[in-house]
Amino acid sequence: MGPGLSFDGNTLRCANPLLSPQIVMPKAYEILRSVRERAPLPPSEIEVQALWFEQLYQPVLNTDDGRTVSLVQPGFWNHGGGPDFTRAVARFGREGAPGGEICVGNVEVHLRPADWNAHGHHVDPAYEETILHVVWEAGGGKAFFPATTSFRRVPQVVLGTQLVAPWSELKPLCASLLRHPLPDAVPGRCSPALAHLPAGQAADILRAAGLFRLRQKAQRWRWRRHQAGPEQALHEALAEALGFHANQVPMRLTAQRLPWKKLRAMEHEARLAHLFGLGGFLPGVSAAKLQAEPRQWLRRLWEIWWKARGELDYALLPRSQWKLAGLRPLNRPERRLAALAQIVPRIPELLAALKTRNAQRFAQTLLAVRDPFWEKQATVTGAPLSAPCRLIGSERVDDILINVFWPMAAMEEPEAAGEALAKMNAAPNGAARIASQRMLLSTLTPKQSREALIQQGLLQVFRDYCQTDCSQCHDCTFPEAVKTWPGNGVRAK
Ligand code: SF4
Repeated sequence: MGPGLSFDGNTLRCANPLLSPQIVMPKAYEILRSVRERAPLPPSEIEVQALWFEQLYQPVLNTDDGRTVSLVQPGFWNHGGGPDFTRAVARFGREGAPGGEICVGNVEVHLRPADWNAHGHHVDPAYEETILHVVWEAGGGKAFFPATTSFRRVPQVVLGTQLVAPWSELKPLCASLLRHPLPDAVPGRCSPALAHLPAGQAADILRAAGLFRLRQKAQRWRWRRHQAGPEQALHEALAEALGFHANQVPMRLTAQRLPWKKLRAMEHEARLAHLFGLGGFLPGVSAAKLQAEPRQWLRRLWEIWWKARGELDYALLPRSQWKLAGLRPLNRPERRLAALAQIVPRIPELLAALKTRNAQRFAQTLLAVRDPFWEKQATVTGAPLSAPCRLIGSERVDDILINVFWPMAAMEEPEAAGEALAKMNAAPNGAARIASQRMLLSTLTPKQSREALIQQGLLQVFRDYCQTDCSQCHDCTFPEAVKTWPGNGVRAK
């Protein structure tokens, strides 16, 4: 049974404040049960995910490799592409042996073992960090052992036989949880401390964390500017921002392996050929299979790339570096590389705007980036997009202002950069959404929830505390930091 849960045959109670309060059996449930004539159908996959999220299973589970596993935290519920739960913390051991090895990683949920291969996870690098495959039932026939792309066996748990109560008892709870929007994370131990702060205090704490993050970024870019020069530092910063979370690292590596000076000296098509070739996006498919426009595009670039690739062989990025699963077509790395190719000649203009703190001119320069071919394509080989779309839209430009322009401006004027971020709105962000659900930030006004500086603060707290915690908040020091925050009237003893 999950932590703090008890079941007396009629009512499932949750004494653990970290779990959702609706886990207590609704009164109407007893009526439902008394008039029910048949056992409910087996759960759907999303219901098994809900069982996992609410930890409605035995405290110690048996795995198919003869070990036991107890979950410290079930992970953040991922409703997009990739594994169903990220950053779960599990303790693996042997029955009867205390302690055990702590593992942090992802959890994938299916109805049956063979779904792992049926969904292609055995060849998908996005599932490489899976530490547990949770299935509803073992399924008849031959035993099936899921494995990652590197042939690592993923331990498996059959949940249907290890629940805290029969599925028929738990189904109504799942139904109440599965009302939209689905949660991403359970509230953390810091949420009561934040909820009891005086008005405006939670926002101030997050703004302070946002300023800290801004200064950290400024320091990072100061070093890079010192090492590589302002043009190269900006080239790398923009490449990283264009990678937008999923592909920040391969985009930055691309900008380091193809430095600004080298790219600037090339014609536009040569620049594209180098960026796409180095990134592994000039496919080895027969050009004859393509539509006329992509075929010609590919032929022109391939003519340049096959002669150039020898000298860059050592630097080629493996395709596995790129995260493609679950990406919207508009966020595909090919479109980001095409945007980078267009930005390279504009770097001096962007630097001039940065020097004069002219965010508007910086934004307009980025918005002016056009590429008729890539505004219609998400990949070289794919069908054209249903409607043409700018390579860098206004939301992405705002993101670049928040993550590149103002942090770079903060190298000289951190206060002014902080004030500018406090006046900007930030687009919704997955990590910030999880962080605000963990902290239950109901004291923030809607305006404060959109504020870029506060969002940066949320991301910093999430990175420094939530993403390093392996104790379901137990060992986290953030709640104490909140209580002793200067000005809230509470002091540490
Ligand atoms: S890990 Fe810390 S900061 Fe994150 S939710 Fe738990 S108590 Fe809050």
